[in-house]
Amino acid sequence: MLTEDSPLSKLVKKNEAEQLARTKGLLSVADLFEFVPRRYVRPGQLTDLSSLHVGEDVLVVAEVKKATSRAMRNRRGKMLTVVIGDDLGNELDVTFFSAYGHEGKLRPGVRGFFVGQIGAYGHRLQLTHPEYELFDDDEQGEAAVEWYRTHRVPVYSTTGKINSLRLRKLVHTALDSVDRIREPVPDDVRAARGLVDRAVALELVHRPAVDDQPARGLDRLKYDEAFVLQTILAQRRKAAESELATPRPPRPGGLLAAFDARLPFELTAGQREIGEVLTTELASDRPMHRLLQGEVGSGKTVVALRAMLAAIDAGGQAALLAPTEVLAAQHHRSITTMLGELGQGGRLGGSEFGTTVALLTGSQNARTRRRSLLDAASGEAGIVVGTHALIQKHVQFADLALVVVDEQHRFGVEQRDALREKGIRPPHVLVMTATPIPRTVAMTVFGDMETSTLRELPRGRSPITTHVVDADRPGWVDRTWQRVAEEVANGHQAYVVCPRIGDVDDDAAPAGGASAASRDTSDEDAGWDAHWAGGDGEGDAEGEDDGAGRELTGVYAMLSTLRAHPALDGVRIGVLHGRLDPEVKDATMRAFSDGEIDVLVATTVIEVGVDVANASVMVIVDADRFGISQLHQLRGRVGRGAVPGLCLLMTQGAGERAAQRLDQVAATTDGFELARADLLLRREGDVLGARQSGRGNSVRHLRLGRLEDEQIIADAREDAFAVVDADPGLRDHPALAAAVAMRLDEEQAVWLERG
Ligand code: ADP
Ligand code: MG
Repeated sequence: MLTEDSPLSKLVKKNEAEQLARTKGLLSVADLFEFVPRRYVRPGQLTDLSSLHVGEDVLVVAEVKKATSRAMRNRRGKMLTVVIGDDLGNELDVTFFSAYGHEGKLRPGVRGFFVGQIGAYGHRLQLTHPEYELFDDDEQGEAAVEWYRTHRVPVYSTTGKINSLRLRKLVHTALDSVDRIREPVPDDVRAARGLVDRAVALELVHRPAVDDQPARGLDRLKYDEAFVLQTILAQRRKAAESELATPRPPRPGGLLAAFDARLPFELTAGQREIGEVLTTELASDRPMHRLLQGEVGSGKTVVALRAMLAAIDAGGQAALLAPTEVLAAQHHRSITTMLGELGQGGRLGGSEFGTTVALLTGSQNARTRRRSLLDAASGEAGIVVGTHALIQKHVQFADLALVVVDEQHRFGVEQRDALREKGIRPPHVLVMTATPIPRTVAMTVFGDMETSTLRELPRGRSPITTHVVDADRPGWVDRTWQRVAEEVANGHQAYVVCPRIGDVDDDAAPAGGASAASRDTSDEDAGWDAHWAGGDGEGDAEGEDDGAGRELTGVYAMLSTLRAHPALDGVRIGVLHGRLDPEVKDATMRAFSDGEIDVLVATTVIEVGVDVANASVMVIVDADRFGISQLHQLRGRVGRGAVPGLCLLMTQGAGERAAQRLDQVAATTDGFELARADLLLRREGDVLGARQSGRGNSVRHLRLGRLEDEQIIADAREDAFAVVDADPGLRDHPALAAAVAMRLDEEQAVWLERG
């Protein structure tokens, strides 16, 4: 007898089991059950050869009338052409470009069924490389015909030798030999939601009769997936609730109050509200675990800084973790600037409440680094800003109260936990993300955190206008650079973003510092940044089918183009990308900040957090190479001050899909709308940023971009949290506990822990 836990080697021969594991990640019978068909072939198409259309999926029962093999002109091997026909005299061509393995079987007179998609060759319809099964005798044929008359035929995605028919057989055998299908959802929940039994759901999905609705079965599988996921999140939440943090109560008249008094602007209502939530949570003895999301420029950093100051007021320290050196340095700079004399604590001229802000990155020189380490360990530094360097073992804090993680999805769980362990008790955690997170993702990936959203932009923020520029029209390109020149002439600055770095040699006269760049054309920072924010980083933003093969514009090639352009004569142009030395990067960013560079030609390193209010225009070169969210993120770099922002999406020979994407970005600045559009386009594994981690790290059945699935997740979440609330250890729910264990095991909790 098989169980759902049985390895597939119990069901099939070793080499087939190996193939299923390698190509589809299917290890157990349960995995096989979860491997749902891509579509179904309807039985109306069974023998009706005369009513076939191009593009249609068909299953035909037919007899081989003729079979001819011949050598091919341009390739080795033989090609096999078969004519099959039904009892009514209809005929259909069947073509195999490799006769091998088929020639011996498909001989005139044999009968069987053929499954495939109808194509055309000249005026004749044909099936190319269909799957088929031949009948040994009439009796078997009759039985098969009868079965197909009464059932929908599932079509699975196939690999190598294991075709859809074979998979169907395997699943059916498994369904017939597992005597009890696990039922992870408690009876009362199932009844309340009107869910079909899991055993029924599997039949509906894999072996639907003509009148069945496989979709009902799939909905059940989706619910199960969400339910198990949410149970895990609920348990995590429960566990976090039982941890004790040091309460950090507010101190009236302290550092925060002094900071507020010298803020040059008024906080928005949202900033104030969230600020109060954070103050309350910091004062509690339960560790805060909150996600703060808001559009680029919505003022998250100020909110986070105020929380850090509250933590310092209560005698603790705060750490700010940034994903890149550029960002860490910039945070350090802007926090120091915002604090003014409040950040000069203990130093001459500093305020009496003062604290100091330390920066810790991997590339600092030994002396600066030692100083920062000392300040963190002694408690001298109230705020320590840093990259991954902050996480290392030897970094110590006197009393770490609050960890702020900027763009957290780029940090894994080990990193977050490593930082948490630096507190005497678990510190409070605030995660900031500028990527709008659709509700489905918030409920799954970040499902064990509370969320706050900054919806309004601070006053004085200017609108961004976006246009698509067709680079195949020289006039348009010229006009683009003229616009850039005009902005510069008006005292503003510009970004020109390219999808790759390219060779330094592409530029005739490298800028100072640029010579430090390696000839390597990939940009670590950019590639690393890309997986969540959209796109896949440099060079292959969307696995795009169109425009491929064309050389992508590199930073250095663009630099020389711009230098040579008459409209930009005398304009100061700088270069920024992830392969530059950290000091060069930092100096370049500072120069751009200070207005000493007019036009910054960069890779996507500038995607996140870079904040220069005077920048008014961004040109994104080869924009079709970037994902929706990434484009949105990038353009958030302009329009941050009083100057209206302009974003020009330059594209050349973009395919239909890419063009549509660009139009979407140009049509709205609503980040949530774009995030959803993005979700609909990308594969789920990408959504969860887990693609690199291989098998099992993404949702299987749920489609996070779909509204229907959002409801399923919300229902499952409500149910799972109620179950865990009443029975945290799942003692009364062994099947659910088993499903949870299996899922955790399977994924090693990698992406769940991303929260
Ligand atoms: P985010 O981190 O969400 O991208 P920041 O906190 O960096 O946004 O804020 C962007 C810019 O807006 C900063 O220069 C900041 O000083 C400014 N800012 C923040 N809040 C306000 C506000 N309430 N009114 C005016 N300007 C603000
Ligand atoms: Mg910011």
